[in-house]
This record gives sequence, C-alpha cells and structure tokens, in this order.
Amino acid sequence: MNVTLLQHTSLEICAQAIRTCWQSFDKSDCGGEKDKELIDRVGNKFKHASTLEHLVYTFYIQGISRALLQELARHRLASLSVKSTRYTLKELKNEESFICKDFERASKYLVLTGVEMVDEMSIKALENLRLVLVQGISNDKAKYCLPESYKTELTWTINARSLQNFITLRSDKSALWEIQNLAHALFNALPEDHNYLFNIKESN
Ligand SMILES: Cc1cc2nc3c(=O)[nH]c(=O)nc-3n(C[C@H](O)[C@H](O)[C@H](O)COP(=O)(O)OP(=O)(O)OC[C@H]3O[C@@H](n4cnc5c(N)ncnc54)[C@H](O)[C@@H]3O)c2cc1C
Repeated sequence: MNVTLLQHTSLEICAQAIRTCWQSFDKSDCGGEKDKELIDRVGNKFKHASTLEHLVYTFYIQGISRALLQELARHRLASLSVKSTRYTLKELKNEESFICKDFERASKYLVLTGVEMVDEMSIKALENLRLVLVQGISNDKAKYCLPESYKTELTWTINARSLQNFITLRSDKSALWEIQNLAHALFNALPEDHNYLFNIKESN
C-alpha cells in the first residue's frame, strides 16, 4: 500500500481555536512548543477534544484491498472518495489470462496475503472476473464477482480527533493485519510535529 498526505492544517490553527475560548492569542508562539503543549493539555488531557477537530488531514491511499475498505468505511467521522469499480473495471479486460501462480502480475490488482493457497484462490477469482468482462457483461453486474482482495484507492479526509480514534483502534493487535499496516502508514505520513498527538501501538 502507499499513503500520501495531500494536505493538513497547521497546529497554529488549532491553537488559535483553543485560544479563542480564553482570548489568549498574545500567548501564542505560532505553532511552536507553547502551542503544542496547549493543544495536548486542552485537547487530550482536559478532554476538550472538539478543539482537535480543527486539525484536518487529507490522505491519498493506494493499493488497499476492498476487504480493508469496508472496515475503513465503518469509521463514520471521515470523508471518502473511492475509485469506482463501475467505471474502472475495464482495466482488467485487456489483460492476458491469469494462471494460479501468477503472483507478481496479479499483485497489480490484488492484495496478496503470503498464504499461497489463499492467494491462488484470489487469482482464480480474478481470472473468473476477467472472463466475465471479456464476455461483454457490464461492470455493474461483473463487479458482483470481485474478490475482497481486489485493490482499490481513495482520498480520505479526517480530523485529528477521529484519526486518534482510528489509530488507537486499528493499530491494535486485535485489528485486521492489513488495517494495522494502514494505521502505521497513516501515522508515518503525518507531519513530524503532529505525531505527538497520536498513540500508535507497536506493529507485530
Ligand atoms: C478489533 C475490531 C473488531 C471489529 N469487529 C467488528 C465486527 O465484527 N462487526 C462489526 O460490525 N464491526 C466491527 N468493528 C467495527 C467497530 O464496531 C466500529 O464500527 C469501527 O471500529 C468504527 O469505530 P467508531 O464507531 O469508534 O468510529 P466512527 O464511526 O468514526 O465514530 C467516531 C466516534 O464518534 C462517536 N459516534 C459515532 N457515531 C455515533 C453514534 N451513532 N452514536 C454515538 N456515538 C457515535 C463514537 O464516540 C465513536 O467512537 C470492529 C472494530 C475493531 C477495532
């Protein structure tokens, strides 16, 4: 998978929002250590967490499975614009047929697990889908035989409060391995001066 941070709000804006409450603008150090400490104290320690909603991040996420996508979409406090299979399945139509152990070529379309039997079955499903498309069946109907491992991409916008919730839940060992990887990739894509706001759990 590949995660790119397209845009983010500077810490100064969040500090400005917090300082609105006490009209203490003169104490700002323009997103420096004083503002960072204020954001942590008010947003995290005092649980005045709505102030963290002023920090917004937009990521471009590529090469995740549709299995992961349906878990990601459960996080309601985020905005998603996802590559549409209805409009893009034709990319598969012009491919040569896939054979069982075509792992490298299939990985353009599929997230592979490293478990040979599972990946071979995924490739069979990919080949079945290709055959359906070659028959001229519309994307609208063909998409119903997509394997869950089929790759997708999306633009994802989320505020810091909701991202804290996402990273805490999804970097935990109890979460799906692929979403754990995503939680780490999102954390690693954050600007360094924002890292301190998030509690990432060690990967396995
Ligand atoms: C390890 C793990 C296993 C899971 N297994 C399953 C499963 O088997 N089946 C399944 O269906 N889901 C499962 N989930 C998904 C889980 O139930 C949540 O839907 C998902 O993690 C999104 O979390 P969230 O609601 O906190 O996030 P968001 O939807 O982003 O919500 C953020 C926060 O806003 C508040 N909020 C949002 N909507 C409401 C509301 N309607 N009422 C009150 N407060 C609200 C809550 O404080 C919430 O934490 C699993 C999640 C994890 C981490």
